[in-house]
Amino acid sequence: MNRTSGTVHLVGAGPGAPDLITVRAARLLAQADIVFYDALVHPETLALAEKAQKIAVGKRCGKHSTQQRFINKRLIDAARKHAVVVRLKGGDPMMFGRAQEEIDALHASGIQCEVVPGITAALAASADLKSSLTRRGLSRNVTFVTPRVGEGEGASDWIRSVCNADSSVLYMAAGRAAAIADALTAHGMPADMPVLIVENASLPDMATTATTLGALRCVTENMTHGGPALLMIGRVFQRAEAQTTVIDRVAVREVVTASLCA
Ligand code: SAH
Repeated sequence: MNRTSGTVHLVGAGPGAPDLITVRAARLLAQADIVFYDALVHPETLALAEKAQKIAVGKRCGKHSTQQRFINKRLIDAARKHAVVVRLKGGDPMMFGRAQEEIDALHASGIQCEVVPGITAALAASADLKSSLTRRGLSRNVTFVTPRVGEGEGASDWIRSVCNADSSVLYMAAGRAAAIADALTAHGMPADMPVLIVENASLPDMATTATTLGALRCVTENMTHGGPALLMIGRVFQRAEAQTTVIDRVAVREVVTASLCA
């Protein structure tokens, strides 16, 4: 490792609410000389980096690889100039956050790197819904999965993973809910399987749509308001459907299978 260079800290910013970050993350942000941050990071979280230069490096769909190489290079260059470099990522940096590419690039350049975990969106949604992902007797495993396959990546077996899991949380999936419903149905998942679409977990404008696999295809239009969203699939979410109505900051749009799919 190059001791004359600074350290790059891959830091989890949490799911959105600015008070859902770790003490370690807040301390590092206060010490940071430069922060490279993702699109989903809350402005109040960014404000903790009082003295840092702040650089947005959010990625747009379709240009991920080129942009990722560019981000890797910027991190390496920054570490050669600054002592404390923070790479701030939404949720947990190691969960669908392309952290490994950055860690490997830093390692290859002899730059020291540390990772600070954060609360991933799935766990924030589980908390908001007051629905345990591992409810005793109903769910003994959880799968965190994405149906998204990036350019140059091999095929994903996400369908089998979701069908074999008691509870599933699908990241980067809400925009393709119809195709997901078709794939899972074709693989034998029952039509009455509860599905929740949870948008903006942990934030005041969180919205939940409660539906079933059979009706999912019919509710994909206008389902989210443009915020980040998760699909949550499993019997544990049956209970969440009933409970969300009593959580006042959770807007529930109950989806009636019969009327929509008739
Ligand atoms: N590293 C992040 C995930 C990055 S992938 C984490 O650990 O949470 C980006 C995807 O995460 C989004 O497409 C969405 O599916 C999910 N996501 C992130 N923040 C979210 C939020 N507040 N509410 C719901 N889903 C969220």
